[in-house]
Amino acid sequence: MTSEQYSLEVEGLCAAYGGVPAINNVSLKVARGSVVTMIGANGAGKSTVIKCVCGLVKPTAGSVRLFGEEVTGLSPDRLVQRGLAVVPEGRRLFVDMSFKENLELGAYTIKDRAAIARNMERVLALFPDLKDRLSTLAGSFSGGQQQMVAVARALMSEPRIILLDEPTIGLSPAMVERIAELITEISRTGVDILVIEQNAEIALEISDRGYVLEGGSVIAEDDAKTLALSEDVQKAYLGT
Ligand code: ATP
Repeated sequence: MTSEQYSLEVEGLCAAYGGVPAINNVSLKVARGSVVTMIGANGAGKSTVIKCVCGLVKPTAGSVRLFGEEVTGLSPDRLVQRGLAVVPEGRRLFVDMSFKENLELGAYTIKDRAAIARNMERVLALFPDLKDRLSTLAGSFSGGQQQMVAVARALMSEPRIILLDEPTIGLSPAMVERIAELITEISRTGVDILVIEQNAEIALEISDRGYVLEGGSVIAEDDAKTLALSEDVQKAYLGT
């Protein structure tokens, strides 16, 4: 596979907080048209990988390539312009603003009002359960609905790849299923996805490929179905 066949290539990434290493030599790839997951326990370093990729944490070593181009160290804004969107842990919604205003803020890199309106229509088609609630304050939605608002907001910048940081955390089983369906639907629209999760079961179910992060390093990678059947993964992450 040539480089352009990957939307994201992370190679030998290291990062530290105040000199204390958080991730060490992490490499991963997202092939075009795929959903990839990185699973791992609390504190394994998953969020740090995402933060390095989206320009929020400066890696101490390693490189990040987006659609074949080196982007290590670019600012989050520049990365959005190159087709990357992130749904951060904890969603970071503007809770005192309406759903519609949150969507408009997601399109901040797009200046053409007509294009923003078209995007909103396209994005809302994925959220039939919310599309009639554009004037509702984001903070008054349920946890699961807020997660959907955060995903919808990220889609407003017309990303080609989206990074999701623990999208199912704290949600009811029904809502976890809904978010999982949504991820599959988004992938079918041609947006590649990297999802990091503590919920390994759902993450491996919806992904093509998976990586296991432990103590800041990748300890296993394989296609998601094979990983889900691995005895080590089952014992450590699937509670079986
Ligand atoms: P979680 O599921 O809790 O988000 P995670 O797998 O995403 O866990 P990270 O948040 O990347 O893990 O954390 C990796 C390591 O870096 C942990 O030891 C954590 O305590 C540490 N760490 C994360 N953020 C900071 C920070 N801002 N300052 C100092 N240490 C941090």
